[in-house]
Amino acid sequence: MSGVFGGQSAAAAPASGASGLFQLLRDGRPRTRAELAAQTGLARSTIASRIDGLLALGLIAPVGDAISTGGRPSSRFAFNPTARVVLAADLGATHATIGISDLSGTIQARHSDPIDITDGPDRVLGWLADSGRELLHSAGHDLGDLAAIGIGLPGPVEHVSGRPTNPPIMPGWDGVDVPGRLRDRIDVPVLVDNDVNLMALGEVAYAWPGVQHFLFVKVATGIGSGVISSGVLQRGAQGIAGDIGHVQVPHGADTPCRCGNRGCLEAVASGPAIAETLRRAGLDSPNGADVIARVRAGDVQAIQAVRQAGRDIGEVLAACVSLINPSVIAIGGSMAQAGEHLIAGAREVVYARSMPLATEHLSIVQSRAAADAGLIGAGVLAIEHVLSPERIDALAVSEAVGF
Ligand SMILES: [Zn+2]
Repeated sequence: MSGVFGGQSAAAAPASGASGLFQLLRDGRPRTRAELAAQTGLARSTIASRIDGLLALGLIAPVGDAISTGGRPSSRFAFNPTARVVLAADLGATHATIGISDLSGTIQARHSDPIDITDGPDRVLGWLADSGRELLHSAGHDLGDLAAIGIGLPGPVEHVSGRPTNPPIMPGWDGVDVPGRLRDRIDVPVLVDNDVNLMALGEVAYAWPGVQHFLFVKVATGIGSGVISSGVLQRGAQGIAGDIGHVQVPHGADTPCRCGNRGCLEAVASGPAIAETLRRAGLDSPNGADVIARVRAGDVQAIQAVRQAGRDIGEVLAACVSLINPSVIAIGGSMAQAGEHLIAGAREVVYARSMPLATEHLSIVQSRAAADAGLIGAGVLAIEHVLSPERIDALAVSEAVGF
């Protein structure tokens, strides 16, 4: 299979319309009309007209030739991921990365800039539109090739409307119609989600294709998670499913948290919290980056502090394991660079606290997509929209009536 897709797309494959045929072909394996007829049970004439429709849309292309039983070559068809591209954007508090991805999820070109998310939506989305256009052109495409834009934001987002909801570190963004504002500049569908949700999508697509029950944990300035259950990203009623940073942990005691409560996971196990632990132990440890440097240098106090943070995270993950029974938990975000010590602490508690059946086949691992998880996920979000059965059927109908 080419590209980075797995279970997310394979789950929804109705056998009707052009989309049903297309979802079969999305695995990249070339098939003849006869093979498609046998696989779907559809009449040869129906297959032929749907193939013509998908060829006209450019979404599939003939590849090579198979020798049919009569000795006559018969064309085979496969997904054509280069038909269109999407623009993916991973916007952080102080740093943004954009990428151009083909429809298989392969990033073709990328660009990063320092930004300040507190500059507000006009400035940041203006930067995104301008840089996106430039990147598109430098990658040899024009706006006509662009099928959609996927954006990850560092705060809660109502995914259906693409509006941030009370984002704590994004003053000026609350309730803003991000898709609408961006479409004023580039008129294509715009999909928006929380950055950790997109990291979950990106990590599964990149490293765990086909995994249906998955948890991504981001440990950085804050702590959050993205939940995939039965192959579907779980956003919850208000889009904040997976917000595990403010669950109280036993070791948290009276430690105050920025949310106003005490003893939250984030208050004891985030990058700044670990740095604070080291400062209390008399070390000059200004931030999470310093903690990582100390761990890499073999500083025992730093290693112990990171391992304890891993155990605190493990306390909350043990509850998550009971609730959603994931087969993979990937830990990412900047503090995951502290390596195995954080993971080891989390494993220690999860394996001790969870039912044996839940952990028998559970992997707790470091994120493999690492710093790219959010960018890949933003691309996946856009591509899933572009290649959704509803969109393909709608496109096929427009094509058939001559639009
Ligand atoms: Zn809190």
